[in-house]
This record gives sequence, structure tokens and C-alpha cells, in this order.
Amino acid sequence: MLESFLLSSFLISQSSIAEPKFLALKNQLEKFGFQVIIALPPLKHSPQQNIGGNPPLPRPYGLLESSKKIIWINPVVFDLQIATQTLIHESVHAAQVCAGGGKLKTLGLDIQPINYARPFFLRYADVHRQDLEREAYAVQTQPNSFELATSLLQQNCK
Ligand SMILES: [Zn+2]
Repeated sequence: MLESFLLSSFLISQSSIAEPKFLALKNQLEKFGFQVIIALPPLKHSPQQNIGGNPPLPRPYGLLESSKKIIWINPVVFDLQIATQTLIHESVHAAQVCAGGGKLKTLGLDIQPINYARPFFLRYADVHRQDLEREAYAVQTQPNSFELATSLLQQNCK
């Protein structure tokens, strides 16, 4: 059952990668030196993974390793039809890395995320992290999120 789910998500992933906005954003990120990898993000924050037969922890939809400029996109987002949205979110973090010269720095955007997104960034205990996530969710939930993410990359990554 699990295997067939993984197989089907793999097949769908391969075809859905051709989504034009996803591809355009991926190309732009690569132009600015980021690597976009379609694979399960590593579990580096969970040293106790799978010890004692625990079920695997859920992986995030996307993850940016700022030190290596690698963006991980969980293949499940293609099934969930949120691949472009996820890459837009990670693109904002990429622009934050460019703005901070290699470390995440807030962009000082004066837009707020819509209310339903609040629990997603308020769950971060770290206030600095909350601000970084607030910006990513703010962009992600705008009607022109794709154009916004594109211009943030152009403004901050040169
Ligand atoms: Zn984020």
C-alpha cells in the first residue's frame, strides 16, 4: 500500500514538474546559484529519528539549507497541487539569504499573510524565525505571489 503510494507519487511528480511557473521559478533560482532538489528534505533536526522503531517523522513540504544554497522540495507537493506555492515560499527564503549575504535576513516587506496562515508561522518559538516565516507566508498567499517572488529574487540576488 505504502509502496504503491510512493510509486504513484513518483510518477505524478515527474509529470507535474512541467508546471510552467514552477519551472520558471526553479530556473531563476538556479541562475542565482541555488540548487533545487525534488526529494524528501533531510531530517537533520531530528537526531533521534527512527530509534526504537518509531514511525518516521513528517517531513516539511520544502526546506532551504541556507549554508549550501540547496532547496529541497518534497515530492508529495505535486500530489497536493501545491508545488508552485511551496517553491514560491522557499524562493522568499532564498531572497532572504541573498539579502543577508548568506544568512537569512528579513526583507522588510509591508504585506501581511492572510489570517489562515497565522498558525503556520506562529508555531515557531523563535521570534526572528517567525518574522522570516511571516514574510514567506505573506508572499505565498498574495494573488500575485509568483510575480512577487520573482521580483524579490531579482531585487536581492544579483
Ligand atoms: Zn518557511
